[in-house]
Amino acid sequence: MERNENFTNTLQQKDRENVWHHISMYNEKAPPMIVEHGDGAWITDSGGNRFLDGMSGLWAVNVGYGRERLAQVAYEQMKKLSYVPMTQSHQPAIALAEKLNRLLEEDYMIFYSNSGSDANEVAFKMARQYHAQNGEGARFKIISRYRAYHGSSLGALAATGQALRKYKYEPLAPGFLHVAPPDNYRRPKGQSIELYNLERAREIEEKIIWEHKETIAAVIMEPIITGGGVLIPHAIYVKEVERICQKYGVLLIIDEVICGFGRTGRLFGHQHFAIKPDIITMAKGLTSAYLPLSITAVRKDIYEKFKDTDGYSHFRHVNTFGGNPAACAVALENIKILEEEKLVQRSKDLGEQLLHDLQDLLELPFVGDIRGLGFLVGIELVEDKLTLEPAKPERVAKIIADCKANGLIIGKNGDTVEGYNNILTLSPPLCCTDEDLEFIS
Ligand code: PLP
Repeated sequence: MERNENFTNTLQQKDRENVWHHISMYNEKAPPMIVEHGDGAWITDSGGNRFLDGMSGLWAVNVGYGRERLAQVAYEQMKKLSYVPMTQSHQPAIALAEKLNRLLEEDYMIFYSNSGSDANEVAFKMARQYHAQNGEGARFKIISRYRAYHGSSLGALAATGQALRKYKYEPLAPGFLHVAPPDNYRRPKGQSIELYNLERAREIEEKIIWEHKETIAAVIMEPIITGGGVLIPHAIYVKEVERICQKYGVLLIIDEVICGFGRTGRLFGHQHFAIKPDIITMAKGLTSAYLPLSITAVRKDIYEKFKDTDGYSHFRHVNTFGGNPAACAVALENIKILEEEKLVQRSKDLGEQLLHDLQDLLELPFVGDIRGLGFLVGIELVEDKLTLEPAKPERVAKIIADCKANGLIIGKNGDTVEGYNNILTLSPPLCCTDEDLEFIS
């Protein structure tokens, strides 16, 4: 044990001197955990301590850690053919695109990139260029929702509706507008969920009208807002947004970066609502984060508008690493694991069980709401159950620290605005065993 402590201290010292961490600066009081090993839903740190990773890293490791099959296909593919730019093609990219088209039960063209942010940037550029080539070059605005997260690059961050993530980086990309998403827990007292959700969808219609309908290119939304606090809309909302988009010729971009690949108990989150997105973006669970890969899936009739008639009408976008052969091979094998082990169904069934088991927490004075779908759960903490005043950051931080001290990693919603980081999040690997589930609840 002592050797482990020294070992960890040395690593932390080197880490402090050399590694700039995501989101925060080095915190002397809580140096970062140095993770050594992962297996199933569990990770082990450099001191030999085990934690159930209730956040799947960053909502990503859907099939769990330590899958030899995934390591093996990556190894075999790298030996055979390590790289092809996607100006050309290769078999794993073709096979994966074909497979996704079968799963989506629609005709999509698959455009490969590296991260969720990339995939969304590609979607925005495609939407703008599509309209331009359709004779509607004035359509450049993208409507998104407050509280949603869509990525860290300038366009994806502009689409993001979390003010504190943008603070000091603005101005970002122009042309991004926001409306409030449905937050059923905080809807006006006495209003039915259906009416409330309809009204929230109509805010998108109003935005389109007041901004002038011929300037709107697309609406982007997650099927369920995840990092913004697990906000599950009523189906009425999603269907109505789709209807509004169709009415005004606005493309509907569905961000499945977290919701995809079983997270919500369906293969894709939008399948809960029986809608047909124009563009779908995917990352994270696509490879269960074994290798970086993302996708922008675009309806074929949109793709047809990119026929190059004048030398400028093709999609003039390239990235070096997108569609890496090993990453595509891993994604295919990852989907095979999801299918063979019925992990999407498991996410649905165990997710229901988890949500049920967690309901006891509502007896605590500061637990206001517990909501979820599949293996995606949000627990909203409040200071007062009548006023719904959000829980103070110290309370939220203490619960997260207590869970960690007891071997469970949980998360919280992103940097929306001051005072509203009060929603605990759970997004464990879909391969959790029954015992793992018991441990969480
Ligand atoms: N979209 C959503 C819904 C996300 O949660 C994220 C990342 O958390 C992104 C996009 C951006 O993905 P990446 O971090 O891979 O760029």
